[in-house]
Amino acid sequence: MSDTQSFDILVVGGGMTGSALALGLSQQGWKTALVESASAASIMEDIAPANTVHDFEPRVSAISVASQTLLESLGVWAHVDRHRHCPYQAMTVWDADGTGRIHFEAAELQVRALGTIVENRHLVQALFLGLAQSDAEIFDNTRVTGWWEQGVQRGIRLEDGRKISATLVVAADGGTSRLRQWVGLPTREWDYDQQAIVCTVETSQAHQFTAWQRFSTTGPLAFLPLQSESGSHHFCSIVWSQDTAAARRLMALDDGEFISALEKAIEQQLGDIHAVSKRFAFPLRQRHAKDYVRPGVALVGDAAHTIHPLAGQGANLGYSDVAVLLEELARSRRLGLRPDDQQVLARYQRRRKGDNLAMMVTMEGFKQLFARDELPLRWLRNTGMRWLDRISPLKNRLAAEAMGLNRKG
Ligand SMILES: Cc1cc2nc3c(=O)[nH]c(=O)nc-3n(C[C@H](O)[C@H](O)[C@H](O)COP(=O)(O)OP(=O)(O)OC[C@H]3O[C@@H](n4cnc5c(N)ncnc54)[C@H](O)[C@@H]3O)c2cc1C
Repeated sequence: MSDTQSFDILVVGGGMTGSALALGLSQQGWKTALVESASAASIMEDIAPANTVHDFEPRVSAISVASQTLLESLGVWAHVDRHRHCPYQAMTVWDADGTGRIHFEAAELQVRALGTIVENRHLVQALFLGLAQSDAEIFDNTRVTGWWEQGVQRGIRLEDGRKISATLVVAADGGTSRLRQWVGLPTREWDYDQQAIVCTVETSQAHQFTAWQRFSTTGPLAFLPLQSESGSHHFCSIVWSQDTAAARRLMALDDGEFISALEKAIEQQLGDIHAVSKRFAFPLRQRHAKDYVRPGVALVGDAAHTIHPLAGQGANLGYSDVAVLLEELARSRRLGLRPDDQQVLARYQRRRKGDNLAMMVTMEGFKQLFARDELPLRWLRNTGMRWLDRISPLKNRLAAEAMGLNRKG
């Protein structure tokens, strides 16, 4: 196996989760490799200022305080902070079919912001710039096309035939992870029969640094505030989850018709919509791996779990996985254990699986509660929201959960 490069830990997939994990592992002193199909040079290219709706990346994440803390500890937050991102001070959630409304304020929770909206590419760029300064070996612009195991040796094959072996291989290759399938870690999954339409819009009124979310029986619509680099313009990122047939109809509309539908759906909360970018539709599927680990392998991020974007928690759960796996592997390094030590991996799974499952069940409950039109459920929603809005301790606990502050990790 002389043509095989060997590492302590190999991370497959350099998205928001995998690149953070690889950076942290390299900083701990593990001999680390990362494989990513995109080119590192293109990821690290300067991102132009955003003056129109077309300049923003349509995929954004509402980064929680807990995720920010992880990125600070990796030394990459300063880069994110120097570029455009939009800390939001408030969040308003309301029911399209009634009078229920909840409003969260950062000030009430005695925090500076509830979170911040960051374009995904800014996060990955910050992490790749960190990786470029680290000892991690990056195999970019190439795909993993296979998995092999020989006794206690294990690793992957790249599309050009090269082989990489590692004591621990981590799958961070996203929701449709091929690696998860190759290593035989099955999932429980079901289709939401919904698609999330994402795009950027320019509105006539300022977003007031507020995340706006309206629930209706056909799915939630979020207007997430974006940082404007051109003074008087107001931009928001849209995540509009709709039943598949309705999403297809919305995607087929021309821009003018889509803007009218969107203005109606958001009840003109931010005035008129002046412009809309290209739209993208993501089919929504819930997935949860039955196990996150097996000998020599661990799953993190969307490879382990994908959830409905209605509370914008997918990336945050992935960062919690990364924080816990880094903690466990730092501990095993201090104790002189191998990175694939079964107890270490079992502890990682124990600490993360329940937390992720709880979030998935909560999201499913929300989705079901708002998907139904029966009068008693509508009454429950509206009364419940109004009641919750008045009970500060409970409301604050809910907000702290969304910010990742209650996560046991
Ligand atoms: C519409 C929508 C809105 C969302 N909004 C939010 C939000 O507001 N907040 C939030 O926290 N989350 C949000 N999420 C979820 C979030 O985007 C995901 O949880 C997150 O992107 C997962 O990151 P990841 O790194 O685990 O996987 P991915 O982002 O899927 O990254 C996987 C990486 O692996 C690479 N890869 C895959 N296969 C291979 C291979 N064979 N060889 C080499 N490389 C490979 C890919 O190129 C990619 O870079 C949203 C999701 C959707 C669909």
